[in-house]
Amino acid sequence: MDTLAEKEGDEYVLNGTKQFITNASEAGSVLVKAVTDPDAGYDGISTFIVDPADDGFEVTTIWDKMGLNASPTCEIQLDDVRLPEDRLLGNEGDGWDQTKKTLDGGRISIAALSVGLGQGAYEAAKSYATEREQFGQPISEFDAVRNKIVAMHRKAERARLLTHKAATKYDAGADVNRLSALAKLDASEAAREIAEDAVQVLGGYGYTTDFAPQRFYRDAKLMEIGEGTSEIQHLVIGRELGL
Ligand SMILES: Cc1cc2nc3c(=O)[nH]c(=O)nc-3n(C[C@H](O)[C@H](O)[C@H](O)COP(=O)(O)OP(=O)(O)OC[C@H]3O[C@@H](n4cnc5c(N)ncnc54)[C@H](O)[C@@H]3O)c2cc1C
Repeated sequence: MDTLAEKEGDEYVLNGTKQFITNASEAGSVLVKAVTDPDAGYDGISTFIVDPADDGFEVTTIWDKMGLNASPTCEIQLDDVRLPEDRLLGNEGDGWDQTKKTLDGGRISIAALSVGLGQGAYEAAKSYATEREQFGQPISEFDAVRNKIVAMHRKAERARLLTHKAATKYDAGADVNRLSALAKLDASEAAREIAEDAVQVLGGYGYTTDFAPQRFYRDAKLMEIGEGTSEIQHLVIGRELGL
């Protein structure tokens, strides 16, 4: 449901719910996008600074998740939250442009998180494969295992390069809509694939919670969902390519 912000005198009154808000239960302030003009489409969205201590703000759910358990994911409810005008960030109608800029940076951040996850999973698999012996030799000396580890390394390096490219352009102030989506799409897919292969390389131990690859695998899956799903990244890239 859209969150609405209606003007009453010199106050805005916010009502609505928002799903899957990272760290909302811990935050000192929350940025809320709300509709200030329902007839204006993208130009009718504005951003408000909400203090969790404001009357009417409530974290209604903290979700149990398959991964990313160090970071709470919340449902929040805004029930007649009254805000003075100076809680509007920028001007009325700026919300969508602000969101697009945030998403460009956010997608690069998810790409960077993915690079780290992929690298961690690759290193765990490589280290295990050089130590674990079967049939009288380290399993890394079996072609099937060595090739898997080389592919993991290739994917991690490729994701890192794309992420660096997007981040460098972003820092230079360039339009990175296509590159940030490309880096996020590639790095998140790479992280999930590398982590899955890492579980496989560790065999039975890979399936236990005593070893890290299963956690990398569960955490990596979110990278393909948050900050816009992979399907949406394809839409963004296709549009940027003029398709
Ligand atoms: C752990 C976690 C943390 C999150 N943190 C935040 C946060 O802090 N702030 C925030 O705002 N959001 C946050 N989210 C929300 C997240 O960004 C969304 O869940 C995500 O963008 C997908 O949106 P949705 O859940 O509404 O899925 P839907 O839009 O319902 O999509 C469901 C499926 O349909 C596909 N689909 C939808 N539309 C299209 C289309 N046009 N073309 C092709 N396929 C399509 C999707 O790719 C997906 O596979 C978080 C989510 C999670 C799980």
